[in-house]
Amino acid sequence: MSEWPSTIIPNGETSKEKEDEMKKAKTVELSPFDKRKQISAEDLEENGESSLESGESIAMVKVVEQAILEHEKYNIKPKKVILIDGNRCYAKDIAYRFGDDEEESSGFIPLGLARIAGYLDKHKVPCSMVRLQDLDNSTKEKDILKLVIEADIVAVSSLSPSIGGVFSALKQFKELNPKLKTVLGAQHALDYEHIVSHKDETNIDACVIGQGEIALTALAYGVPDNQIGNMAYLDETSEATIIKRNANYPRLTEQAVIASELMRPVAAREISIEWSHTVVPELAKIYPESIVTESNSGCKHPCKFCTNLRMYGTNCESTLETSESEIKKGLKRAQQLKQDILIYFADGMINTSDEHLEAIVSLMTRENASNEYKAVWYAFTSVEKEEDAEAGCDKKAMRLGKMARQFEAMSQSGCVMLAFGMEDVVGDRSKQGKGADLERAIEVTDSAREKILVRLLLIMGLEDHYNFSRDEIKERTLSHMKAHPQAAYRINSWTPIVGTSDFDKYHNFLTRDVRKDPEAFSEHDTMHGVIDPVKMYDSLGIPEEQRWVKDPKDWVVLRNEIMQEYLRSPEHEAFLETLKGKSINGKENILYDIAVEFRRITLTGIEK
Ligand code: SF4
Repeated sequence: MSEWPSTIIPNGETSKEKEDEMKKAKTVELSPFDKRKQISAEDLEENGESSLESGESIAMVKVVEQAILEHEKYNIKPKKVILIDGNRCYAKDIAYRFGDDEEESSGFIPLGLARIAGYLDKHKVPCSMVRLQDLDNSTKEKDILKLVIEADIVAVSSLSPSIGGVFSALKQFKELNPKLKTVLGAQHALDYEHIVSHKDETNIDACVIGQGEIALTALAYGVPDNQIGNMAYLDETSEATIIKRNANYPRLTEQAVIASELMRPVAAREISIEWSHTVVPELAKIYPESIVTESNSGCKHPCKFCTNLRMYGTNCESTLETSESEIKKGLKRAQQLKQDILIYFADGMINTSDEHLEAIVSLMTRENASNEYKAVWYAFTSVEKEEDAEAGCDKKAMRLGKMARQFEAMSQSGCVMLAFGMEDVVGDRSKQGKGADLERAIEVTDSAREKILVRLLLIMGLEDHYNFSRDEIKERTLSHMKAHPQAAYRINSWTPIVGTSDFDKYHNFLTRDVRKDPEAFSEHDTMHGVIDPVKMYDSLGIPEEQRWVKDPKDWVVLRNEIMQEYLRSPEHEAFLETLKGKSINGKENILYDIAVEFRRITLTGIEK
């Protein structure tokens, strides 16, 4: 269960007296919004599903629909909105800098903002998209500040490493335009209690959790804050200042909830080429043109290190219809450019169900068949727990046969690479909230590599790992990699992410608390915060002589050593040979070329 306080007073402290006083001042009904915040992997295991209720989405949608119709009827203009991508290029873990061409890229494509922009366009809301990094360019800065002066609402999307820059930019914006309403979305907004109760420092009036399309449309059409389900803010009008508890939960679903043509989702606004970040460097060399899309939101797994759980619970909602129009637009651009493109599915997992995966495969097969210039695609996928994983030979053979057919169909439809979160090959993988054990995960990833390139993600520096010596970790990781060679192994250092149950559990192990001290990010090479090895060893009771991690960077050094040894091993070389001659969309040797490019980029990145 979350350790976060259930009530907040302005200085961020919670006292028993104050809590009692607040209870008297206002009875607070726990809403799906708050229930979702409290979800932990343990809760889900114990209680089953999370608490999202589609009926509440419908209610919220009706409120917004009504507001739009009223504005049209009385010819009232909606408010002006600026959507800001707050992520900065410098805010990346060293693992993300393997690419030698990534200095100009934050590595995050603001699909969420682009989808909100598409939605606001549909509803005729004046809306601009800007990047915070462009404030560093004096010409662009002037244009941005002009927009700020004229705007009513600024909505920023940001992950934790960039949040310090967001807070200070918003301070400047509010000085220029004191009436501006400022809203934060994306992962760091999960820290909403601290953010909105410290408005004087953060300069943020409200946080939006999960999808922002309906919330932003509602704000633009003057819907009062207390009717916007997934928004958190301070109720400064009440006697006791508390974070508002709302009852509605708007989630933009396509089929089940939104029957209304008016509210139906639309394709993302096209992002300018300047904004197209390098997410997968080894593919970017070969496919310089790419688009990002998402065929479903949410993920059914409760991984402890991921923010998905608190954003959406374990509910997945299809956004395939929206995705289809984005893919068609992308392929149209490919025909104009006369070159193949890459489609990056930003889904938490593409295989939410066999049916969903089949729909993607048939969509991509159809689109590629009807276009001269084709799309290859890349997606995250997960390993599902099979009830019969322990079954005898016949069932295993059937399972492998089915997987082989699925991967073959994906490959035929243009799937060039799949990312799997293997996470832990040193300790116990299932402790991360993954359904399937290591053996089952290997069965799937080994099967995938016969047809498609696999990008296998490992995490280094998990709590369990402090129990092992440096040599043991190196030996276990390398033996796994050599026994199951893949085109692209990525090993990231573990640090708890704001808004996850990991963060609740381990934030006292950080060298500095990044929520209250965003500048901590600038001193460490990390995505999320830095674990203090002394605190971790102390809590595990590991004797001094066994403590080999002296500095958090020791994990990065070990990771680099492992990557170098693996990529230069005869096992990896032999694996590369097996890729020769394989093709995707008729492009001969493409898998081999990409794998070799990954090796070049990674070794160059480590050794420069
Ligand atoms: S499978 Fe991936 S997207 Fe889903 S919860 Fe785990 S890490 Fe997050």
